[in-house]
Amino acid sequence: RDEQLAGKVILITGAGGGIGRVTAESLGAAGARLMLSDIDAHAVESTAAAIREAGGTARAMAVDVTRADQVSALVQATLEAYERLDGAFNNAGVEEENAKIVAVEESLFDRIIDINVKGVWLCMKYQIAAMAKQGDGGSIVNTASIAGLVGAPKRAAYAASKHAVVGLTKSVAAEYARQNIRVNAVCPGIIRTAMMERAISQVERDDGIDAEQQRRLHAALHPMGRVGEATEVAQAVQWLLSDASSFVTGHQLSVDGG
Ligand code: NAD
Repeated sequence: RDEQLAGKVILITGAGGGIGRVTAESLGAAGARLMLSDIDAHAVESTAAAIREAGGTARAMAVDVTRADQVSALVQATLEAYERLDGAFNNAGVEEENAKIVAVEESLFDRIIDINVKGVWLCMKYQIAAMAKQGDGGSIVNTASIAGLVGAPKRAAYAASKHAVVGLTKSVAAEYARQNIRVNAVCPGIIRTAMMERAISQVERDDGIDAEQQRRLHAALHPMGRVGEATEVAQAVQWLLSDASSFVTGHQLSVDGG
């Protein structure tokens, strides 16, 4: 239990796997009351079930973050279930890109921007409306990336989308600072999740670089000489969601081994 988080109502997107699932489990163990969502209904129900089995409080809902009606319904369902909203972790995102700009389909660009940028914008729009009405503040954390701070060759659309998440975070943080609604971003380096495994398979297929060689390259990209674990991102998110970070807003927190 974490006294700075216990009882708080927190909504998470992309909670079906990877960073979202591990963060949900960690917040559940801290005593937060959770509304979990993911486009994958089965995956998010499995996360909620694991948290309930461990003694935590979690509900699950299938939501596509690109759909305003579904995002609005998610916030509404949270208020109906728990009667308030204290925090949100807007974490759903896709990468899927492995080519220079001339070889990337327009449809892939649209998909990445839709999920990674519009999804975060829609989530904040409805979450903040609820928090502002409540009138006693709140904390939102958006998942950007190290690709939201520097360029990422063969991932231009992804890097643009994550730079946009940083821009949304800083702007909305300034808009609602007086209402004590804090908005921050985490910028993970390479984290060992299913997303990273899919990227490794894609590069193996497209570029013929074997998985082991890629893993060595990934580790070497970080000054600490290794990639990160989802739990290490979860710890940073947990701090930003809790009252322990009460004077931190509009910040981009790198979790990238240096
Ligand atoms: P993941 O693929 O394991 O998890 C992402 C989740 O988002 C999945 O459960 C997926 O079903 C869900 N999702 C996808 N599209 C959705 C939509 N339209 N609506 C709702 N949910 C949707 O990946 P992860 O590594 O845990 O990534 C989580 C976040 O972290 C992403 O925003 C990603 O860009 C970011 N990130 C990951 C890394 C990394 O190295 N793994 C690094 C930096 C940033």
